[in-house]
Amino acid sequence: MPPEDPGLAFDNRFVTELPGDPQSTNARRQVLGAAWSAVRPTPVSRPQLLAHAADVAALVGCRETFVQSPDFAAVFAGNALLPGMQPYAACYGGHQFGNWAGQLGDGRAITLGEVVNAQGERWELQLKGAGPTPYSRTADGRAVLRSSIREFLCSEAMHHLGVPTTRALSVVTTGDDVVRDMFYNGNAQPEPGAIVCRVAPSFIRFGNFEIFAARNDTAMLAQLVDFTIARDFPHLAHRAGNAEEQRAAWFVDVCERTAHLVVHWMRVGFVHGVMNTDNMSILGLTIDYGPYGWIDDFNPHWTPNTTDAQMRRYRFGQQPAIAQWNLLRLAEAIAPLFADTDALQRGIDRFSETYIAQYEAMNAAKFGFVTRGEDEQRIIREAYKLMYDAEIDYTLFFRALGNVGDTLPSTPATVLLGDVFYDDAKRDAQADALTEWLQAWHACVSRHDRAHGRSVAVRRAAMHAVNPWFVLRNYVAQEAIDAATAGDPSVVHALLEVLRDPYTEQPHHGRFARRRPEWARHKAGCSMLSCSS
Ligand code: AMP
Ligand code: MG
Repeated sequence: MPPEDPGLAFDNRFVTELPGDPQSTNARRQVLGAAWSAVRPTPVSRPQLLAHAADVAALVGCRETFVQSPDFAAVFAGNALLPGMQPYAACYGGHQFGNWAGQLGDGRAITLGEVVNAQGERWELQLKGAGPTPYSRTADGRAVLRSSIREFLCSEAMHHLGVPTTRALSVVTTGDDVVRDMFYNGNAQPEPGAIVCRVAPSFIRFGNFEIFAARNDTAMLAQLVDFTIARDFPHLAHRAGNAEEQRAAWFVDVCERTAHLVVHWMRVGFVHGVMNTDNMSILGLTIDYGPYGWIDDFNPHWTPNTTDAQMRRYRFGQQPAIAQWNLLRLAEAIAPLFADTDALQRGIDRFSETYIAQYEAMNAAKFGFVTRGEDEQRIIREAYKLMYDAEIDYTLFFRALGNVGDTLPSTPATVLLGDVFYDDAKRDAQADALTEWLQAWHACVSRHDRAHGRSVAVRRAAMHAVNPWFVLRNYVAQEAIDAATAGDPSVVHALLEVLRDPYTEQPHHGRFARRRPEWARHKAGCSMLSCSS
């Protein structure tokens, strides 16, 4: 039988337009004067497709008949290359936890190539966990099944929530074990390995620019900036103006996208967990799903990342400030390309303006408000304080608000809101304040209904459209991981369906939308994850 036609059309601009590493051995090293190093994925024992996202396959032009063939698992485990693939690892640096870390690079990611689909859109296909590269430093270039499932499911969950993100085509199990010390406490264990194929228009990070700046390689820096504009920001490439004006417009664009991204994270309760500058996408996409998490009870101080448990640098409420700090590092890196660095300050200012405007609009929408005056601001502020003090589930709280009708029943708020509380004592202590708050909110939102001729049904639909019914809670992802590790991929498959329609209540999948059960409060994987994930 002739092999299945994959349907993929490769056009690899990154490796054809940017200088590569002249050395072709796979030894760990510092790579100078190059944006990438050619590298082959290291074959694995028994590639098996665990799950794939059919809409991502369609997006990149990959035929479903190919996905179902054994060749697909072989290619997306790194055991075979398709004609047109030119695999490489990118060179980048980064600030990790506030400090310059030098060269990092794709230590366990290998881009297979760029495909152009029938609509003319360009997508990079990148394996994560396909073996060592020149950038692997002391690590093995591999990924474990649990973190691969987490990245696969969360990429897709975020996309369907409307949050800018890299996508995921497939997750393939390798048949090989990978040894990990999950909590860096000397208990290294073999775990099943897996490889995700992730997909994005560009995997370029802030760190790709920082590395050339750190090495005073201004020529490479300029070349990479202009390449990025030409390939990934085509709407800017044709603007009038000299190179400096174009680069300035590009930086402003990056600042706006980054603000927009973090507003979405705050809206859905997502905590990235490791906002190092090497994990910041130039396109403002959520990238590098590691020890990320979703807040259950509303708590701005929460981070899922045990590696950051002391400083909590990357906690939920700190994400906007860190995004800005990271943009400052990018501005510093590209400053040598500017005679007039005021343009960079304008970008940073644009970040704050965009963030504030979009955050306020987002918040008003979550509460069902059409306009924002002092009353509305106060009600919003009080709600967050009550959610924190009474330890209320963030996602369930907003869905419950959306379900309130045109008259407020006389039942106490603690009953009306339903099963959204994590601590009975805290709930009881705030019971009266909550009832009072609910009345104030309801009076206000009802005023908006009357002033704008809005029915309750329309208000509810608008609120439900920004307040998800389903988010990929940590304990839910862990259930899928536990089942898959035991050989049953059905929970992964079920979640892949549920996450495609996260704003619609799916009563038959109600068990995936409940508040975090008590057993998951301190369980590894559910509330605690480390960078080794
Ligand atoms: P991360 O915290 O996942 O963003 O990774 C930071 C850096 O460490 C990047 O350069 C990664 O490529 C590298 N890295 C993380 N895990 C591994 C691994 N298992 N093997 C090789 N490099 C890794
Ligand atoms: Mg990373």
